[in-house]
Amino acid sequence: DRILVALQWAMAVSLVGYLVTLVSTDNGFSVLSQGAFGTLAQWLPAVYCWVAYARAEKRRPETWLVALAVTGFALGNLYYGLVWSLHSSVTFPAWADLAYLAFYPLMLLAIVLAARREFIGAASTVWWDSALGALGSASVLAVLLGPVLESDPRGSSALAMVVSVAYPLGDLLLVAAAVGICALQGLRMDRRWLPMVVGLIVFAATDVVYALQVAHHTYAVGTPLDAGWALGMVLVALWVNDGARRPSPGRDRAVPLALPALATASAVAVLVAGTRLDVSGWAVLLAGLTLLAAAGRTQLAFRQVFRLAEVRRQAATDDLTGLPNRRALYGQAPELLDLDDDRPRALLLLDLDKFKEVNDSLGHHVGDQLLVQVGLRLQSQLDDRDLLARLGGDEFAALLQGTDRQQAQAVAHRLRAAIAAPFRLEGITLHTDVSIGIAMFPDHGPDLSLLLRRADIAMYKAKAARCGHLVYSGDDDHHGEARLRTMTELRTALANDQLLLHYQPKIDLASDEVRGAEALVRWDHPTRGLLYPESFLSLIEAAGLMSTLTAQVLAQALDQAAAWRTAGRALTVAVNLSASSLADADLPEQIAALLDARGLPSSALQLEITEEFLMVDRDRAGGILTRLRDRGIQIAVDDFGTGYSSLSYLRDLPIDELKLDRSFIFPMADDARAAALVASTIALAHSLGLRMVAEGVENPVAYTELARHGCDLAQGYFLSRPVPAVELDHWLDERLDS
Ligand code: C2E
Ligand code: CA
Ligand code: CA
Repeated sequence: DRILVALQWAMAVSLVGYLVTLVSTDNGFSVLSQGAFGTLAQWLPAVYCWVAYARAEKRRPETWLVALAVTGFALGNLYYGLVWSLHSSVTFPAWADLAYLAFYPLMLLAIVLAARREFIGAASTVWWDSALGALGSASVLAVLLGPVLESDPRGSSALAMVVSVAYPLGDLLLVAAAVGICALQGLRMDRRWLPMVVGLIVFAATDVVYALQVAHHTYAVGTPLDAGWALGMVLVALWVNDGARRPSPGRDRAVPLALPALATASAVAVLVAGTRLDVSGWAVLLAGLTLLAAAGRTQLAFRQVFRLAEVRRQAATDDLTGLPNRRALYGQAPELLDLDDDRPRALLLLDLDKFKEVNDSLGHHVGDQLLVQVGLRLQSQLDDRDLLARLGGDEFAALLQGTDRQQAQAVAHRLRAAIAAPFRLEGITLHTDVSIGIAMFPDHGPDLSLLLRRADIAMYKAKAARCGHLVYSGDDDHHGEARLRTMTELRTALANDQLLLHYQPKIDLASDEVRGAEALVRWDHPTRGLLYPESFLSLIEAAGLMSTLTAQVLAQALDQAAAWRTAGRALTVAVNLSASSLADADLPEQIAALLDARGLPSSALQLEITEEFLMVDRDRAGGILTRLRDRGIQIAVDDFGTGYSSLSYLRDLPIDELKLDRSFIFPMADDARAAALVASTIALAHSLGLRMVAEGVENPVAYTELARHGCDLAQGYFLSRPVPAVELDHWLDERLDS
């Protein structure tokens, strides 16, 4: 802006001219040269302020406050100069003093407004530091101004006293504001504030020297000191334009710690000086306030330190369970796994079984609650010095101190027992198990990450073997290899008809007749002998071979059903479907084709599904089941009562039969409550129009009880173990004979 630049030059020239005339004329005041330059030097800043205000994009209140202050000062000078030139003396207080004194509050208000807007986001410590700096510097200045503040050199009227004290107090405030602004900005002062800070300090310094000279009767008009006020005005005026500019980005507002420390030290020095010397009451008061502010600042710093500690604690805590998280485990591991300490330590890695199903079927809310409960139960089984952490998902880790292999296994046992007890969440009873892998320190690894890896291998092995917990063993690293071998073997088994079926009869409790048999798969392993589904089904599932297995089982079972029919036995064969069969969208068509190829009616086949099957994808399961049912194939829900489901699916899905899990039947013989539960479950099934089958009937007590409660069918070792078809035929023949 050319006008502003021109005005800047004019200000500079008038200021230099004023100074030169002041220095060169040492015989007092000259109206012509000093008066002309002086007046220019006083008025140009005022003009500059108003022009800058008029031309600013945003007209801010602080701009015209400064303009007003500068103009008022110039007006005061004009009045003073006029009266002086007329009378060669000015009475005190004069009207000019009113204009002069207005300068202080107007400037302070402008600074407060500007600072508040600009430092709006500054941390509270920054404001405290600012206040501290302001008070500290004011108290030091008050000591310097002592003679002025205490004495009354100019007269005795009350007004004169007030006015004479108002000046030094105003200066105290201005210096305090200047130091406060410095503190607000920290080490790297924004250039825009520089003119204001320097201007205020120059102005106040001039005031102070003037006041002291007056107090000592050494002041004379027309010395270079007179230019001090003009210089202050010019600098303050420059700020008006600069202040409108945007703050430079990315300013570092870190306050140098030296400043509050310096302020506090000065305040202490002032107080100490006050005990020896005659220091003004104002100085003591300000020093006291400084120390109070310092105490407040310290308090705040303490709070921040605590908050920082809290934030760090939170970063190491798992939100959900409140347990330490993975980060915390890694953080504490170096200390806990100290090689110099020769006590054994154990790392347990825990993973809930089927947690995903809980989450999927009952929602994350219930899943979360389960995790919280699991965390509590695990914690309750551990020592205080043991570290339990949640690694994420349904994975927990426990680092046990001074625990050898045997003890670690005992702990694992305890933890599993704690988790095995049913959980009650939102009115639902949940059962879950946990698989635990154990790695020993230092035998299985010198640091946490290797221990975690090895515990993980052991955990997976435990999960696959469904044996609950396992200690890592060196062979496990070849586990992958062994697994691969089994995989190949499995493929061969499927290709070479190594899978065979055993059949277990289902007996109608009312008529004592055998209506059907469940087909249960076996693997006739070339070297390991006959294997049961427990030992290979999860591998089949993991290898993605389940649909091949299901197809083979279906084919064999239906062959057998056809054979029975030719032999004059109308037995329904039941085949188990795993949850992954859902992936087969055309399963109903495949099954229909298999039935047709053998000329079998759909009543020859029954399918057993688990609640898991229903829960993985309810809509999809519903669709597939409906299509099967439409073709007349009966559906049974297997292992009923162990799942996580609400019972609503029983109403919504096409189901014919419930197979009550054997864990309900076993305790019937010696627990009246268990028997009552079974009775009411049977009633429930009947009220929904479903048949009830009891699994795992091992003894005559259960058998007669079930018959008494109106259970429809029974299956179990008490009647027959699962056996090859030939044996089942013998058994059926014998039953007929007896
Ligand atoms: P499931 O469907 O619950 O099968 C019943 C299991 O209980 C069979 O074990 C059977 O031998 C056993 N069992 C029968 N009566 C009694 C008894 O009185 N007492 C006791 N303690 N147990 C009894 P198995 O043959 O080892 O089969 C285990 C599981 O493997 C089956 O449980 C089923 O979920 C699965 N499975 C078996 N064959 C197949 C198949 O062809 N396909 C699929 N997807 N899963 C199968
Ligand atoms: Ca079954
Ligand atoms: Ca079952």
